[in-house]
Amino acid sequence: MSEEFLRIFAREKLATLKSRGLLRALRETERHATGITRRNHRELISFSCNDYLGLSHHPDIVKASLQATRQYGVGAGGSRLISGNNPLYAHLEASLARIKGTEDAVVFGSGYLANVGVIPVLAGNEDLILMDDLCHACLFAGATLARSRVISFSHKNTSELTRLLKKYRKSYRHCLVLTDGVFSMDGDRAPISKLFELCEHHNAWLMTDDAHGLGVIENGHGSSIVNGHAIPVPLQMGTLSKAVGAYGGYLCTSKDVADLIRNRARSFQYTTGLPPGNIAAAIKALEIIEMDHQLVNTPLIHAQRFAKAVGLPEPESPIVPILLGDSEPALLAAQYLEQQGFLVVAIRPPTVPDGTARLRCTFSASHTENDVDRFSSAIKKILNSNE
Ligand SMILES: *Cc1c(COP(=O)(O)O)cnc(C)c1O
Repeated sequence: MSEEFLRIFAREKLATLKSRGLLRALRETERHATGITRRNHRELISFSCNDYLGLSHHPDIVKASLQATRQYGVGAGGSRLISGNNPLYAHLEASLARIKGTEDAVVFGSGYLANVGVIPVLAGNEDLILMDDLCHACLFAGATLARSRVISFSHKNTSELTRLLKKYRKSYRHCLVLTDGVFSMDGDRAPISKLFELCEHHNAWLMTDDAHGLGVIENGHGSSIVNGHAIPVPLQMGTLSKAVGAYGGYLCTSKDVADLIRNRARSFQYTTGLPPGNIAAAIKALEIIEMDHQLVNTPLIHAQRFAKAVGLPEPESPIVPILLGDSEPALLAAQYLEQQGFLVVAIRPPTVPDGTARLRCTFSASHTENDVDRFSSAIKKILNSNE
């Protein structure tokens, strides 16, 4: 009986989603070393992938991963604090700290786990969290777990943040300000210098999520570099699963904060360490990111070429959104592009605000200029037919 109610509950929820054009389905997708993606037995060029540098298939990285797997096995065998702290972690954390210019780094199982782990260690129920309203879902999840007073400010609005700091800061013990460095659905960059200055002035801690910055902007160093200057953002988290091409998350910070996080973050303590092959892959990928500036700069150059061709403003990152309003036109556009041989997934609410369904196009060093130009022509057809 109760099993039947459960089934009805699920069906009704799904029917609501379907009626609002929000039903999602998993589609099998094979990504190949050639840069080609296969779906439904068709070969597509993907503009929907976060593997910005094509490193997930880089032969040296695959080799490093296989070698570590042979040496240490496929799984970690325990959490890092018990028996899963493979010697490769020290190398990986040192590389991350060097690239980000911090004293130390802590590696987590994923970016999501990093955010839900770090935020509750630094803020609790006597504290205030102020966050950009377009922050990634896992920053909101971390803020919720912290049980702090959480107030979001409108996207990149530093005057509004100033007002909130003036009004509320004094009533709370600690204050954490959260932002994406590069916003995942819009590709624009946070006003890091101004945010840092405000945090200094009001005794607040700035935490940036650089998932889409590391490896693709500022010669790979990410969003804390502004006009060539390193802003000493005290808490810089990110992921190893985008430009780095592997899997995992990290926080780059001071030695003391890193030690506190290793002691207190629950999503660090109560979860298994990363597979050793994955740690070795990330180390090798970061080596390539540090050395090969031409590779690292290619995704943004492609994005700029595309934006110019279709008449959009110059992008600040390799993410270029094409806003189409409702979910329906976004889905139709994605279908059309698939017929033309391109994979671009329609991003719909609640991932993005209502009325801002979009094609989120991401550019990769695996694309050729010819790929970018053919893709630009297809997008122009969509934009013209919408006018
Ligand atoms: C992808 C993403 C994450 C999550 O990282 P994972 O390693 O995939 O869990 C966090 N923040 C932002 C902004 C992201 O785009």
